Amino acid sequence: MAKLTVLGSINVDHLLQVAQFPRPGQTLEAENYQTIPGGKGANQAVAAARLGARVAMVGCIGDDPIGQTMKQGFEADGIDTSAIDSVPGEATGLAMIYVNAQGENNIGIWPGANGALGSDRVAAHRQAIEQADLLLIQLETPTESLIEAAKLAKAAGTRVVLNPAPAKALPDALLRHVDIITPNETEAEQLTGIAVANDEAAAKAAECLHQKFGIEMVIITLGKRGVWLSHLGAQRLVPGFRVSAIDTTAAGDTFNGGFVTALLEGQSVDDAIRFGQAAAALSVTRLGAQSSIPTREETLALIA
Ligand code: ADP
Repeated sequence: MAKLTVLGSINVDHLLQVAQFPRPGQTLEAENYQTIPGGKGANQAVAAARLGARVAMVGCIGDDPIGQTMKQGFEADGIDTSAIDSVPGEATGLAMIYVNAQGENNIGIWPGANGALGSDRVAAHRQAIEQADLLLIQLETPTESLIEAAKLAKAAGTRVVLNPAPAKALPDALLRHVDIITPNETEAEQLTGIAVANDEAAAKAAECLHQKFGIEMVIITLGKRGVWLSHLGAQRLVPGFRVSAIDTTAAGDTFNGGFVTALLEGQSVDDAIRFGQAAAALSVTRLGAQSSIPTREETLALIA
């Protein structure tokens, strides 16, 4: 079975459901509170594992009880945790999330131990990268270590998929090692300077990512509309699945996890996108990050 390594952030999400977002200076009692495992790297690893991939995670937790709980959660999902470091004196990364009645969210993040995932730790876990068939990365850990990881992957013939989230400017040194990039509309605009307001603009942004950085495949995720695919000189919209959304947290993460899982199984790009979108659609019908990620069986049932 092909191997996936996900390198990235591990957070615990403190989620408060509120009727509306508190205004500055206002104190508001929430309707519901939950702590839910999150972090883009962890979400993508869990998505891929639940959806059928063989997954190893490279990341950092704090030396606190919640970090250990997160690690046990990965193990319960069948993820290889041998490249997860516990960082002395650091807290496990966390996010404070408000979800309002409309299902919109408002998020503040404290990186904590994720900030300790530097080049030295990446080098120490190089085997997990070099032995993988595909490396999946995002932007919630230090950029310098992402460059190191992508370089190691490239030299070893490991395919590199970058989900450039959350949006930030990136050096060419990272982008030139990327085979497949999966920005949402905001992230595509951040990288190209082109506002992805319609299909024509999506096509231009994708072309810019191919031309400027030599990226082979561009997939711009467009929320409930689906994704814009640009590959092998052709571009088109691939529609998503229609569901009734209650919380879109981790939609992109679930799409990425599902998409790479199907690619590693040897499915066509179209089928892999369909699989990723089905899983992501199911995830938006449920609350939270890892709590919302569906199983392979549920996903296949939606596609059938
Ligand atoms: P991100 O969460 O990174 O901003 P998107 O919002 O673009 O990413 O969502 C990623 C994918 O999740 C979409 O391409 C789509 O397949 C699926 N998705 C997101 N929102 C919905 C929705 N409301 N209904 C159905 N599918 C959705």
